[in-house]
Amino acid sequence: MYRTHNCGELNIKNIGEQVALAGWVQKGRDLGGLTFIDLRDRYGITQLAFNMETAAELCQKARKLGREFVIQAKGVVIVRESKNPKNPTGEIEIEVTELNVLNAAKTPPFTIESDTDGGDELRMKYRYLDHRRQPLQNNIALRHKLSVETRKYLDQQGFFEIETPFLIKSTPEGARDFVVPSRMNEGQFYALPQSPQTFKQLLMVSGYDKYFQIVRCFRDEDLRADRQPEFTQIDCEMSFVEQEDVLQTFEGLVRYLFKKVKGIELPEFKRMPYSEAMERYGSDKPDIRFGMEFCDLTELAQGRGFQVFDAVEVIIGINAEGCAEYSRKDLDKLTDFVKRPQIGAKGLVYVKYNADGTFKSSVDKFFDAEQLQAWANKANAKPGDLLLILAGDKTKTQKQLNELRLEMGNRLNLRDRNIYAPLWVVDFPLLEWDEESNRYHAMHHPFTSPKPEDFSRLSEKPGEVRANAYDMVINGVELGGGSIRIHDKELQKTMFKVLGFTDEEAQVQFGFLMNAFEYGAPPHGGIAFGFDRLCAMFGGHDSIRDYIAFPKNNAGRDLMIDSPSKISDEQLDELNLKSTFNG
Ligand code: ASP
Repeated sequence: MYRTHNCGELNIKNIGEQVALAGWVQKGRDLGGLTFIDLRDRYGITQLAFNMETAAELCQKARKLGREFVIQAKGVVIVRESKNPKNPTGEIEIEVTELNVLNAAKTPPFTIESDTDGGDELRMKYRYLDHRRQPLQNNIALRHKLSVETRKYLDQQGFFEIETPFLIKSTPEGARDFVVPSRMNEGQFYALPQSPQTFKQLLMVSGYDKYFQIVRCFRDEDLRADRQPEFTQIDCEMSFVEQEDVLQTFEGLVRYLFKKVKGIELPEFKRMPYSEAMERYGSDKPDIRFGMEFCDLTELAQGRGFQVFDAVEVIIGINAEGCAEYSRKDLDKLTDFVKRPQIGAKGLVYVKYNADGTFKSSVDKFFDAEQLQAWANKANAKPGDLLLILAGDKTKTQKQLNELRLEMGNRLNLRDRNIYAPLWVVDFPLLEWDEESNRYHAMHHPFTSPKPEDFSRLSEKPGEVRANAYDMVINGVELGGGSIRIHDKELQKTMFKVLGFTDEEAQVQFGFLMNAFEYGAPPHGGIAFGFDRLCAMFGGHDSIRDYIAFPKNNAGRDLMIDSPSKISDEQLDELNLKSTFNG
């Protein structure tokens, strides 16, 4: 037996017991007559003590141990002289009577401690060593807990966990597919699923009624800090449901997770139509932990001879409470912020509503105090507040002001990590116009059902049709989204037509689904949660990477196994790809 206990469980109650521990050498301290070793495993750290006077040989052996050596130590639990109240095992130590080196180790390339000296890339390369550090182990433990509790809840609700294939044909979710060449079918490719969307719908046709899967999805997108080419979803589908049933079930899931895992009772989930979210916050995933809602100043500010304003579609502002004392420098910084290429505003107009009731603005030449007062009133500003105003094309300006609002929220500490403000955004548009391809795209995916009351407009005014689609948003983070699906073959056909597919193209790509719909498809709908993101939110971090055991870097590379990589000529040949690559 390698061990009787782990390194996190011995305490004062175990005094006098003979024990065996195994683990990694965290570090050693040599105090002349005494040598101490911190022995570490997943569960904690226990101090091993060696006495030069009573056990010289053992002590010398201990002194030769390097960091990260794998050892086994046997001995007796004794009271520690200098206790460490921060460590659960900090009141005891092991007086070692036998020491076995199970494996030597090279000096690790960075320190294996909570605060490490290793940079991101180095730790990615040696991810298996990074996993020995407490913070990462905590993240993985949290992820485990969340997946176990998710399964428990969904099982209690009668969901079946069903696996769907990874080698499929492409399902359009709006991203590029990763493809896999088929050796046995020359010139043909599988695609890795962007999500199990069509399969879960087919499972509903099969009658499984409630399905879920904690499943890997693959999307070949340009990567951002919080995106990974492969990521995990909690993917769910239900039959004989309306939107309300889905919202209730999954509000229930998230409530349950917060309660079980964080001990938090979530407040009521607000509901907000997409159009309202855009008008009030300029975002389809608004952070409603704080107000600072948009104020439309278009009517008040146009027609007063200020060219910049008169030429635009909208003029909208936010009220930053208590910020009238911002200096020139502060305002320049905010202007630079909105002018960054990622945000792209042309400029920022400010109005200081000074504490003494006077106004100072960047447009004083064009607007007098009375006019500025009218703006302030509309924005519910008080003396001491600061209006920040952007103007331009409606959609773009809303997006820009959303960024500025979030930035101000950060600056004013209004985005408290310990507060959770959940929200369902509902009634998304079914379609969005794409300038580039000059056609409509499905905002969610082509299987999303229009709202029944909007069916009739699908052919004539597709842009106005609302979808039975919903997103769950917490603190400005989209945790999940889904929809009620089309289950009628004819409606699905119309939808493909609106999306610019010919009947034939639709048949080639989605024939299997439309055919299935001819055999009694029940009304159905579902949702998928970004599981990595859920973990990051529960852990209080922004980046999902820290919650994925073996993530890829921003260039989509796995630095540890060095992938992607070339493959041999023989492999290419077998896959019938040799000519493609070698001319
Ligand atoms: N398949 C969708 C997605 O991955 C989720 C859903 O509609 O259930 O976003």
